[in-house]
Amino acid sequence: MIVPINIYSDDILRKKAKPLKGVDSTITELIASMFETMRNASGIGLAAPQIGHSIRLIVLDLSCLESHADEKPMVIINPHILAVRGLNEMEEGCLSVPGVQGDVERPAAITLKYRDEHFTEQSDKFSGMFARAIQHEIDHLDGTLFVDRMEKRDRKKIQQELDALTAGIVNTAYPIARETPAASQS
Ligand SMILES: [Zn+2]
Repeated sequence: MIVPINIYSDDILRKKAKPLKGVDSTITELIASMFETMRNASGIGLAAPQIGHSIRLIVLDLSCLESHADEKPMVIINPHILAVRGLNEMEEGCLSVPGVQGDVERPAAITLKYRDEHFTEQSDKFSGMFARAIQHEIDHLDGTLFVDRMEKRDRKKIQQELDALTAGIVNTAYPIARETPAASQS
């Protein structure tokens, strides 16, 4: 089921999400909805708070990128970054901050402990786009958006766009949720 995505300035995007205790049929259905919603919006990652669930659950699918066409979709539950290596800068965007892109510096590689869709514990090293996307999505679980991590100078350049989003001026090809009915677009 395609569900609406929460947008910049919605409170749920600023909350610290709670760990999951297990995976039941409700969570399995939610995971399916997250994949469907993400793909419909042409995203490569989605965190549960972006669709209104304050829980530590992420889906990822890089296969729509030409360079990652063979990658399998991933479910990441209760992630913990155990170690980081290096630093690099990359341009990011976010389905919750439509129309805005900006450079963000992050560790280039991470060692991650997490639970998969069967709630089985996994530990893996990630680099490149995977490390980038996973860190962006983990930020969502902690109430942080990529624009918070942009340099002040770059952030100033997009402030007008952010103010417009706060004011409810949003133009997306996918359904969005607004917490404030007054700011609703539909
Ligand atoms: Zn995002």
